[in-house]
Amino acid sequence: MSEAGERLGRMHIVSLAGGIGGARFLRGLRATAPDAQITVIGNTGDDITLFGLRVCPDLDTVMYTLGGGIDEEQGWGRAKESHVVKEELAAYGVEPQWFGLGDRDFATHIVRSQMLEAGYPLSQITEALCTRWQPGVRLLPMTDDRCETHVVIDDERGRRAVHFQEWWVRMRASVPAESIALVGADTAKPAPGVLEAIEQADVVILPPSNPVVSIGTILQIPGIRAAIAAKTVVGVSPIIGGAPVRGMADACLTAIGVETSAQAVLDLYGSDLIDGWLVSPEDAGVALEGVRVIARPILMHDTVAAADIARTALDLAGELAG
Ligand code: GDP
Ligand code: CA
Repeated sequence: MSEAGERLGRMHIVSLAGGIGGARFLRGLRATAPDAQITVIGNTGDDITLFGLRVCPDLDTVMYTLGGGIDEEQGWGRAKESHVVKEELAAYGVEPQWFGLGDRDFATHIVRSQMLEAGYPLSQITEALCTRWQPGVRLLPMTDDRCETHVVIDDERGRRAVHFQEWWVRMRASVPAESIALVGADTAKPAPGVLEAIEQADVVILPPSNPVVSIGTILQIPGIRAAIAAKTVVGVSPIIGGAPVRGMADACLTAIGVETSAQAVLDLYGSDLIDGWLVSPEDAGVALEGVRVIARPILMHDTVAAADIARTALDLAGELAG
């Protein structure tokens, strides 16, 4: 094995992750550092209870993507999916009908909900689900405590807070958000293993996930941000040339008064947190004192491209750690 390969093999990497962007980055990270120990801290702020079942969209997207069960086109949900249960629920007129849950996916939520009912914490349930999917990383929820993102909107029905998924999926973020809050964050504790993994990490990576409702949410769990700030941290900008690559991250940034730019997201994270920042060539002018900025293509066309980006992030972390 090459010297660089040996270094990567001994490495302990912690990566935060939201949904699709985070999962695709992780697939590249795992490919570029196959022998490294990778711990993923997943966002659970998007979690929602539907039809009596606990749904964890971001944890499942990471699990299915790394486990080879993802619908590649869509980026979330299961491959070769059918929707008979959803159609039957709709035939009964049961709400909500705006959230897409496929038959195969339903099974995951049934297993999870059964285990929650039996008293298991989400971290243990996630580990149990991963026994099937073998994602090749240790996947931890940010917290075992119930902690959900809510969005304050003002539409024809008046000013009110709705669950993040209702704003994101049902309204497609078309109603401006007045504010976004992680309900339950004050008293939430990091899940078992989270702080220990950060403590033992050689590098912490912030992949291109939503900076407000994915990465921002994880950082709000008391203790996590401070633990990460003490480490060598490299982030990949989720914004290229003033726009999100996909999705509606701009609506979330606008809601918290932050411009949609690679510079503004770096400023939002801050130099106390970030040591290295990867931006796209068109954002080469981005700068912040105390942060090493590198401009490289950061579009994840495929796993090879994602692996290149992950390798650049690890190399930068290696340099910064000295
Ligand atoms: P989340 O669950 O809301 O965090 O959703 P995702 O993890 O799918 O990603 C959200 C962010 O990642 C958005 O701001 C996207 O623009 C960004 N993103 C998605 N694909 C890419 C990519 O290929 N490269 C980069 N740099 N950013 C991306
Ligand atoms: Ca998400």
